[in-house]
Amino acid sequence: MSDETVDVLIIGSGHSGGMAAKILTEKGISCLMLNAGPVADVRKDTEVKPAYELPFRGFKQPGILPHVFQSDEFNANTWVDEKEVPYTYDPQKPYNWVRVRLFGGRSLFWSRQSFRLSDYEFKGKSHDGYGDDWPIALADLAPYYSRVEGIFRVRGRAEGLAQYPDGNFVVDDSPWSGCMQRFVAAGKGMGIPVCKARSSMGVDGLASSVNLLLPDALATGRLRAIPNVVVRELSVDKNTGLVKEAHFVDRLSRREMSVKARVVVLAAGTLESTRLLLNSKIANSSAVMGHYLIDQVYGPGIACSVPEARDGKSTPGLMGGGALIPRFRNIDTKAKDFIRGYALNIFSSNGGMDPRHFAAYGKELENMLDSYHGSGFSAGIMGEVLARYENHVSIDKEVVDAWDIPALRIETKYTDNEFNMARDAVDTSVALAEAAGFEVLAKNYDPNPPGYSIHELGTCRMGDDPKTSVLSKWNQSHDIKNLFVVDGAAFVSAGWQNPTMTILALAMRSSEYLAEQMRMGNV
Ligand SMILES: Cc1cc2nc3c(=O)[nH]c(=O)nc-3n(C[C@H](O)[C@H](O)[C@H](O)COP(=O)(O)OP(=O)(O)OC[C@H]3O[C@@H](n4cnc5c(N)ncnc54)[C@H](O)[C@@H]3O)c2cc1C
Repeated sequence: MSDETVDVLIIGSGHSGGMAAKILTEKGISCLMLNAGPVADVRKDTEVKPAYELPFRGFKQPGILPHVFQSDEFNANTWVDEKEVPYTYDPQKPYNWVRVRLFGGRSLFWSRQSFRLSDYEFKGKSHDGYGDDWPIALADLAPYYSRVEGIFRVRGRAEGLAQYPDGNFVVDDSPWSGCMQRFVAAGKGMGIPVCKARSSMGVDGLASSVNLLLPDALATGRLRAIPNVVVRELSVDKNTGLVKEAHFVDRLSRREMSVKARVVVLAAGTLESTRLLLNSKIANSSAVMGHYLIDQVYGPGIACSVPEARDGKSTPGLMGGGALIPRFRNIDTKAKDFIRGYALNIFSSNGGMDPRHFAAYGKELENMLDSYHGSGFSAGIMGEVLARYENHVSIDKEVVDAWDIPALRIETKYTDNEFNMARDAVDTSVALAEAAGFEVLAKNYDPNPPGYSIHELGTCRMGDDPKTSVLSKWNQSHDIKNLFVVDGAAFVSAGWQNPTMTILALAMRSSEYLAEQMRMGNV
């Protein structure tokens, strides 16, 4: 491959890489996509063995996936093996980094919650003085959100709230269940909006790069995609200062290869994109690369029971369904001990209860589980983590992965703003649940470790000033004009929102800009 120069090299095949491939190929540009992992063999990889045939009886093999809370022995082939691709951190400040290297990346497994950021996020500094504004506003991204929502078939309801911008939805006109009606009324009484959640329906429950983006790119005949190759470094032409070549290794044979490209689009998933750039020692004249790592606080919340549904007395339509309380703090008023805000994910359940919510054992526990069955109701935080310079990633000089690529070291922790926000979220949830007449069974104030939300963002943030940001508002490197980073690394602030709609909208916008710049001969 070393003599060939491809038009655009896309690294990564998830939501962000898939969107770049779709837009660029549809604009007539040929692309080569490299992806670190294999194409999933759906038949073989989803075949479930009985637990007694597995060495750890369905629990997981110790040490392989210690930070992937979703993993067990049945789905262990989904996630990146932390022994093969390690990362390091101070044991006092753990980080959960959840990665997927299959073709399609995490788009194959995401939970599909689909929200827009609002100007309370894009222009957060203008609102409360903290951090930095994004170089774009909601109005810049809104047309792209609308197109992404159309492709992903986002189901939702218009709510008319500035902090929860409406979009191009498949209308959700489903009625609230009985317990949700009581919760909505409780919210109204406290001035807290309880809204319908929004999620991507995709097609047949799959809203991935593999079924919604890459088929369009492949249909143009302009996309070549190579699985099982791990990009280790990008090199720059000393005369032009442009990226000229990507060096990669075959995951299985370990053969080293390289390819020349007119443009490189990085879409390896926030921290892998930053790791690749840091290992390449490029595009960092600002010295900001790796800094401002952000995500969302998850974990704090409450578990309740709806008394009328206990002891098998639930009536049809009483239980079931979910809701979303978008950020409501620090909009018109000011919370006393934290800035920004959180959302609450609300669920009611017809199923069994978690035994951990009951301080009982044996027969007593069994009786309680029977009695409470089908009466569950829960609220959980999705809280904004503030962008701080000191939360950062760097290259660990001591540790390499299975292909001798230096590993990432992650240094990040939550501070009082996140802890105080979590406390407010739990106390507010309790007040809402009690106002609705529910029994509160358990409260958790302790955030899970950073990274747990699987929404790692920032580290190559965008901005107008090349001295304080890595990328322009078009996701283009300030330093190297034929280098684009189209995944979550570009985020300036995290917001409370799950980020994928924003990643997709930014990748779409950036790819259209790139296509136009290539047409004009500027890139
Ligand atoms: C269980 C789960 C639930 C989630 N739920 C939600 C949700 O409800 N809502 C939401 O908004 N988000 C959710 N997310 C997050 C969402 O999946 C991600 O934000 C999104 O998929 C990121 O897409 P990406 O393309 O940037 O990165 P990825 O999907 O991580 O794709 C990156 C790709 O790059 C490849 N790659 C990495 N390094 C290299 C390299 N060196 N060389 C070559 N290739 C490389 C990988 O193989 C991978 O396929 C969830 C994630 C998970 C795992």
